[in-house]
Amino acid sequence: MKIGLFGPPGAGKGTQADKISKLYGLPHISTGALLRKNIEEKTQVGLVALKYIERGMLAPDEVMTQVLKAELGKYADGFLLDGYPRTLAQAELLEDITDLDFVLNIDVDPELITDRIVNRLVCPVCGKNYNKRLYPRDVCEDDGAKLTTRKDDTEEIVKQRLNVYFKETMPIIAYYKQKGKMIDIDGNGSIDEVFGRIEKALYDHDKKR
Ligand code: AMP
Repeated sequence: MKIGLFGPPGAGKGTQADKISKLYGLPHISTGALLRKNIEEKTQVGLVALKYIERGMLAPDEVMTQVLKAELGKYADGFLLDGYPRTLAQAELLEDITDLDFVLNIDVDPELITDRIVNRLVCPVCGKNYNKRLYPRDVCEDDGAKLTTRKDDTEEIVKQRLNVYFKETMPIIAYYKQKGKMIDIDGNGSIDEVFGRIEKALYDHDKKR
């Protein structure tokens, strides 16, 4: 299965990706996580990406194409793609490289988004996300690494990331809907409630094939 994960920042894509990936044994490709790794390793891609990420902007398509092609090449059998495409140009380019079976569109009420993001903690080792208000903890439950915060998870940068999402990323919904590939998931509620909806959607989709 080649599944895309779509939704605004704070929709819970990373959290749900972790659960889907464990249940179905699919590798989780997160373009945001790949950029953060490049930034940490101070690669050329990382140096360019940092300038955009810290302003809440999208990294240039050329940079993203480079990052994505290298990663997709490793997983011909299937993957869960999180954070790409984010523009119509990226959606079209992706189609030249590979064919997604479907895209899960996780949507949440806008007022939840900022709250979720400013309370987010991230594992620097595996990338797993936690909410410090709902589940206070210091270390990752999977690997024991000390949790950190993301530099772009401030209220001010979230506003900018949301603007970018509404302007540049949302048009992709119509693109995949037209192809009959978009599955809408209500992202409001607890992690398990949302995951239950995803499991049901995947089951229904499988039955139809
Ligand atoms: P994420 O971890 O998915 O929230 O991504 C963090 C940041 O990485 C985004 O705000 C963008 O600056 C950058 N980024 C991740 N994926 C893409 C992409 N497909 N196109 C452009 N920029 C991206």
